[in-house]
Amino acid sequence: MLKRNRIEEKESEYHFPILIAEDNPVTRKLIGKILMNAGHEVVLAENGIDALTLFNEKFYPMVVTDWIMPEMNGLELCKAIRSRINQSYVFIVLLTAKDSKYDIITGLEAGADDYLTKPFNKAELLARLKTGIRILELEASLRKVNEEITILSRTDPLTGCYNRCYLNERLPIEIKRAERYRRPLSMILCDIDHFKKVNDKYGHQTGDLILKEFVRCIKRSIRNPLDALVRYGGEEFLLILPETNLSDAIRVAKRICGTISKHAIKVQQNEIYITASFGVTSFENDSHRNDFSADNLIRQADRFLYQAKEEGRNRVKFG
Ligand SMILES: [Mg+2]
Repeated sequence: MLKRNRIEEKESEYHFPILIAEDNPVTRKLIGKILMNAGHEVVLAENGIDALTLFNEKFYPMVVTDWIMPEMNGLELCKAIRSRINQSYVFIVLLTAKDSKYDIITGLEAGADDYLTKPFNKAELLARLKTGIRILELEASLRKVNEEITILSRTDPLTGCYNRCYLNERLPIEIKRAERYRRPLSMILCDIDHFKKVNDKYGHQTGDLILKEFVRCIKRSIRNPLDALVRYGGEEFLLILPETNLSDAIRVAKRICGTISKHAIKVQQNEIYITASFGVTSFENDSHRNDFSADNLIRQADRFLYQAKEEGRNRVKFG
C-alpha cells in the first residue's frame, strides 16, 4: 500500500499538458480520454499545423502525433519541432497504421522517440508515455546539475563573488555593447590596504572573514542588478558597472571607500577596521578610441589603483 502511494506521488510530479495531434475525431477523443483518465492534462489539435501553432505558443515537453493528417503530417510536425532550438527536450510519440520496418525507421529518423501502431492498445500507450516521462525527468535533473556546475564554475567559493572565468566572458561582451549602443561603461578596481599585515597578525581564517565582510559591504553599496563584482586576485576585487559614467562610478567607489573605513569587523573579541584603495576608469564612447579591450580597461583601472596606493591608500583615484 505504501509503495503504491509513493508511485502515485511520483507520477503526480508530472504536470505538463500533453499535446495530441490527430485528425480523426473519434481517435482524438479516445486518446484524450485515456490520458485524462490516467491523470494527464491534454491539449487536442486537429492536424499538424494546429499542433505546431499551439506548440509555438506554449512549450509542450510531450507530443503524441498521428502520422497521416491533412495540412501537415506527423513526420513534418516531428521535423518542425526538432528544428526548433528548444531549451528542453520534447518527447514525441508517433501513432501510425504503417507498421513496416521501413515506415518505423522513417518515423524515428524524422525525430520521433517512439511509435505506436494503430489500432493501439491503451495500456501500451500509457506505458510508452511513462517511458517518456522518465526520460524527461532525467533530462530535467541533468539540466539542473549542469546549471549548478555553470554557476559554480563562475563563482569564487570563498566570497560568492564572480571569478576571473566569469570576468573573461562578461567584460568583452559589455565593452562590445557599450561600443555598439554608445553607452557608458565603468570599472572599479579595489584592493584591501595592508591585507598581508592583517593576515599575519590575525591568521588566515580571520583574513577570510574580512574578505567576506568586505564583499558584503561592497554588495550593499551597489544597487544596479547589472553590476558585477569579481574577485580579481587575493584581496583585489573588480566591479563592472554597465550603464554608468565616470562620475557615477567615482561616487560608487567613494561610497564603498567610506563605508569600509567606518565598518567594524567583529572577529572573536576583536573589532578590526580595514581600508581599501580604489582605481576607477570609464569607457567613454565619444572619444573615438579603438584600444578599449578588456585588458586595456583593467590596466587603466590598475594604474589609478596604484596611484591611490602611492598617495597613501584609503582613497579613490580615477581618470
Ligand atoms: Mg490520420
